[in-house]
Amino acid sequence: MKRKKDLKIEIMAVGSELLTPYFQDTNSLYLTERLNELGMEVSYKTIVGDEWDDLVLCIQQALSRADIIIAIGGLGPTKDDRTREAFASVLERKLIFNQKLLQKIEERFKRRGHSMPSVNKKQAYLIDGAEVLENKNGTAPGLWLDTDSKVILLFPGPPHELKPMFDSSVWPKLQSYRKKHTARRVLKITGLTESKIETLISDLYPQEPHARLTTLAYPGQIEIHLTVFSEKNQERAEESICKLEKKILGRLKENVFSTTGEELEEVVGRLLRLHKKNLAMAESCTGGLLSHRLTNIPGSSDYVLQSMVVYSNEAKTYNLGVSADLIEQHGAVSSQVATAMAAGIREKARSSYGLSTTGIAGPAGGTPEKPVGLVYTAMAWDSGTDVVKNLFLGNRETIKFQSTQKALDMVRRHLLKKPGG
Ligand code: AMP
Ligand code: MG
Repeated sequence: MKRKKDLKIEIMAVGSELLTPYFQDTNSLYLTERLNELGMEVSYKTIVGDEWDDLVLCIQQALSRADIIIAIGGLGPTKDDRTREAFASVLERKLIFNQKLLQKIEERFKRRGHSMPSVNKKQAYLIDGAEVLENKNGTAPGLWLDTDSKVILLFPGPPHELKPMFDSSVWPKLQSYRKKHTARRVLKITGLTESKIETLISDLYPQEPHARLTTLAYPGQIEIHLTVFSEKNQERAEESICKLEKKILGRLKENVFSTTGEELEEVVGRLLRLHKKNLAMAESCTGGLLSHRLTNIPGSSDYVLQSMVVYSNEAKTYNLGVSADLIEQHGAVSSQVATAMAAGIREKARSSYGLSTTGIAGPAGGTPEKPVGLVYTAMAWDSGTDVVKNLFLGNRETIKFQSTQKALDMVRRHLLKKPGG
């Protein structure tokens, strides 16, 4: 294919299972990420079932609008896998039997003590003019076809087959089509709403076509994705992204908790380790999610001492010494009880910090005074306590997640204020 300035790429995921509610096309996300690293962007994505006519139509469409077409799936031995045949038909090219390929497939079966079923023979056919992309993890070989005007790539569907094939044989080859160098950064933010962020940085939105800023909002977390392209070199792209990142950090300050991909629980873990502090948790409405997130991080035993899920009033009293009178007087969902829980677990675990959550995750149980989404998170340390009242929106799971996010962020902000934080 001739080198063009504006290459159009289409990814086509083939397989009727991808049109059911049970399977997702995740391969295209992987491929898109890898292509973006080369400064190449995807213009179209198609998902098509195994029906011959549908497949042919999609291939025709892809050929009419894209320069590089990457088709995934449908290279298996069964009758419904016909991607190879459909491309050959649309391109009006023959399928040519390749003896070497057959031997390789046969050997693969032999190594596992089987003889090759006859249905697999069709995987030894190549579209005329195509090169083989070796598949070390399966029987279906991939295929690279470079016509005068298009590059066509066929891959098997299983992700553990496609990924190494793409990385080892295709990614390096695509480098020569690279037109731009790309630098990316993801800024993760918590503690600010999307609209607040917008007002703080809207004037920084890049005007130039070689820079892009996208804001993505999740419950309890906002992400700003920055992309900068350079036609010259990678250093140039890195330089300009650093400048843009610095400007945004100047505006959003400590609300940005990560620029390197770290999750909030990783950041908190890193800070605890840095300051040689440790932590214990008493969880009510989060039901263990806070501990789950913290202990998902390898090495968290360095700073997580203990965790308790104290759901009932009695459990709070019995395990943490939260007085029954206090619960009676203020209710289990109150700043007083949250604070007593944090202090109680800290004392019990003899940890530097005690962290607690108590709230109404819903959907039932809300009252006008204490609605669904009302959550208190509290923190206790050697010389004080802090408690925050929140009103979260969303379903039960979202409210639980946001509560853990808030609790983690309390620790993070506290540690940031310490010297060296
Ligand atoms: P195939 O190459 O069509 O025989 O695909 C075999 C299996 O790979 C399918 O049953 C799926 O489990 C998986 N698969 C196929 N296409 C995709 C895709 N686009 N994303 C993720 N998994 C896929
Ligand atoms: Mg299939």
